[in-house]
Amino acid sequence: MTIKARWRRWAREDAQVSEAALRRNLHALAVAAWVVVALNALHVVVFGTLHFDDAVRSTWAQRVAGAHAAMAVVMLVTGWLARRLQARGALPAAAAWLPLGVSALVLGWAIALTAFDQAIGGSLSAYVNAAIAVPVVLLLRPRVMVTLMALAWGALAVVLRWVIEDAALLTTHRMNAASTSVLAALVGVLFWRHFVRTERLQRALADSNQQLQAQHHELQALATRDPLTGLLNRRAFEHEAQQVLARARRQRHPLALLMLDVDHFKAINDRHGHPAGDAALRQVAACMAEAIRQTDPLARLGGEEFVLLLPDTGADQAWHLAEKLRHTLEQTPLPAIGAPLTVSIGLVTVAADATPTLEGLLQQADQALYAAKRQGRNRTVTWDAEQAARGASTASG
Ligand code: GH3
Ligand code: MG
Ligand code: MG
Repeated sequence: MTIKARWRRWAREDAQVSEAALRRNLHALAVAAWVVVALNALHVVVFGTLHFDDAVRSTWAQRVAGAHAAMAVVMLVTGWLARRLQARGALPAAAAWLPLGVSALVLGWAIALTAFDQAIGGSLSAYVNAAIAVPVVLLLRPRVMVTLMALAWGALAVVLRWVIEDAALLTTHRMNAASTSVLAALVGVLFWRHFVRTERLQRALADSNQQLQAQHHELQALATRDPLTGLLNRRAFEHEAQQVLARARRQRHPLALLMLDVDHFKAINDRHGHPAGDAALRQVAACMAEAIRQTDPLARLGGEEFVLLLPDTGADQAWHLAEKLRHTLEQTPLPAIGAPLTVSIGLVTVAADATPTLEGLLQQADQALYAAKRQGRNRTVTWDAEQAARGASTASG
């Protein structure tokens, strides 16, 4: 990749993570501010209580104590501001200037301290500490960090000229400060690139996680749902029904199973066409789903045949629900065919102390449904052990 292309790619990536970098900077500022305040306080105590006989050293100690006191105030405000901004959902545009402003302020302050220190022999420590602290604590874009460090070094080089007369000492200080600034800029760039890579990796992971989850949901729907109506398919119904049955047995609760078949559906297909028949099936499914509890397993067994399991439902309640469903469908014109349709229902109820199998229940409901068809359709027939061979109790519409 050419340098120009790399530069452009980096600029694009920098823009993508700038908000995340700002959040991370606010967090770092909120934490680091208290550490700096503690250090400042220590300096104020140590230098504020120092006593020297000569005026130069006394002035120096006072200046150092004063500089640390001022920085403590700045850091208290910074920490408070960072915390307030952190708590906000959307950050104001001006917040982006806080990390750069604090960095510049800290470097400027360190340059002043370094100038003060020249009065007692001359040390670069204040500048070195600040120049390294800035890239370690704060993430600034590479070009900002490099510019900042260059300007800081330039400012220090000028200021040192005012306070150092010895040409040799001035040169060694300037050169050492140059090395520090270059190293600090390098640390800053490396940390920034590391942050960008990690951030982008995390986002890519989050994206693919989301995709996987969506695919998982899709697969689950495909495996458990009837694609035409969105109701459970036979397999998922059997799975849920087994659990409902086991619970009913354990808790000794009654339950009921309803098998429902649309009457003369073939004629509807013939008259209105297969697509209209499909739409009608969807509307029947929606109508049924609306009439029952959301937790009752309702499935399309295939064709125009549906099955509904009613946990904790006694015989009378189940009968009423079946009749309500039948009447609702009989009275609701379906937009797809411009008329209502009728259904036949086979109902089987299970007493609280019985231990039926799902297979047995489905067979009995099927027999009751067959009886309903035979007796003229548009009716509910309850399966009855004694009357099973001869016929069954019915209600017709
Ligand atoms: P009965 O009252 O005895 O139930 O009569 P019927 O015509 O409803 O019953 P039959 O079993 O003779 O015909 C069922 C029809 O349902 C035949 C088939 O074309 C139609 N069918 C089955 N599955 C679908 C489907 O997914 N979409 C559509 N549009 N029609 C279907
Ligand atoms: Mg039918
Ligand atoms: Mg059928």
